[in-house]
Amino acid sequence: MKFGGTSVGKPERMQQVARLITEGDEPTIVVLSALSGTTNTLVSIGDALAKGDKQEAKNIIDKLEAHYHAFVNDLLKKTASNDKGKAVIAEHFDFLNIILKISFNEALNKDILAQGELMSTKLFSAYLDEHGIDHVLLPALDFMQIDANDEPYFDAIRFKLHRILQQHAGKKLFVTQGYICRNAKGEVDNLKRGGSDYTASLIAAAVKGSVCEIWTDIDGMHNNDPRIVKKTIPIEKLSFDEAAELAYFGAKILHPTCIWPAQQEKVPVKLLNTMQPEAPGTTIMQDAGTVGVKAVAAKDGIIAIKIKSSRMLLAYGFLRKIFEVFEKYRTPIDMVTTSEVAVSLTIDTDAHLAAILKELEPFGTVKVDTDQAIVSIVGNEIAKTPDVLKKLFEALSPIPIRMVSYGGSRHNISVLVPASHKTATLQHLNKGIFGLE
Ligand code: ASP
Ligand code: MG
Repeated sequence: MKFGGTSVGKPERMQQVARLITEGDEPTIVVLSALSGTTNTLVSIGDALAKGDKQEAKNIIDKLEAHYHAFVNDLLKKTASNDKGKAVIAEHFDFLNIILKISFNEALNKDILAQGELMSTKLFSAYLDEHGIDHVLLPALDFMQIDANDEPYFDAIRFKLHRILQQHAGKKLFVTQGYICRNAKGEVDNLKRGGSDYTASLIAAAVKGSVCEIWTDIDGMHNNDPRIVKKTIPIEKLSFDEAAELAYFGAKILHPTCIWPAQQEKVPVKLLNTMQPEAPGTTIMQDAGTVGVKAVAAKDGIIAIKIKSSRMLLAYGFLRKIFEVFEKYRTPIDMVTTSEVAVSLTIDTDAHLAAILKELEPFGTVKVDTDQAIVSIVGNEIAKTPDVLKKLFEALSPIPIRMVSYGGSRHNISVLVPASHKTATLQHLNKGIFGLE
């Protein structure tokens, strides 16, 4: 069971988490994020130090420390546990204050970033102790590991975690840190922002759990973006493939790469709401059952590039040469459509745009459209859904569609539209495909 920052961000939320994790009888591993806002604050401490502003860093540290003091006073009421909570704060803020005195580097920055999860789990553990809830605090730094490419080293994680769990035979409740890990050099590192979901999925896969529950403050994935359309409905079931398509196209609720470990070991992933624990949420599993459209999602900041050349006609190797340019600049391509004499593709970063365009020039006429949005329609076996294309194009008849991608995967149809039409596109689809206003 993984709980995100807002689920542990207030003392009463932590108390709710304690209730939720003690409800079932299955052995449970609980993964916690840092208290909401903490990781952002730790990032700003690192930023201040990176630009040499120790005073600013010190001010941020002091403000954060005051926040934790108030938190502990609210959470831990008995003298002994309150003292323990204060000792936890003292330990970690002493560390942050020592860092002010030594010269800053990237490895140290990772140490700073790790403080949030270390504190949230220790304070939660003190709360469980106060209430006589038997548990073991497992240091994630003893088993979570990434390799030289910063990818999780799954076999090592599994091996180490099993060994540690064996040392605690008979125990049923474990608490550990999300996000943090050790790298190939043995230093403290992390799984990148939002990485606690990844931790949970890796652990669930390593122990072949019956379920991996991700508890946030929303009741699962929704069929559309609630910030843009008035009415959205939670999606009850999704396959791993569908969820991966949605996560990529901007569904904020799940860290996009977190899915694969759970998928590999066929552990269902449930997205649940701490504020509304009885809501069914979304279950992501191997087989999502019904055929049909489940959701639409949009990603903006997209750049479309068209390369047109009569030399492409009946030629081979043309696409390879074009793709090589993008490879050279380590720029991923998202959508591609081709005709006999032209190819259009999209990228989502302009970091190397000028250089890429220069190298594409010899291949033909190159045209660039910035400020585009990819709108993706995701569903199990979407092509088999009756009338899906008719409904889609009817719904989008007022929208100037720039590209269409159909058949790339069995679970997705994507259209590219000017970003200025993104809102209208999502609204028209909500009505035309889901019958929602
Ligand atoms: N605390 C980390 C972050 O905010 C990891 C997480 O919450 O998943 O990015
Ligand atoms: Mg977070």
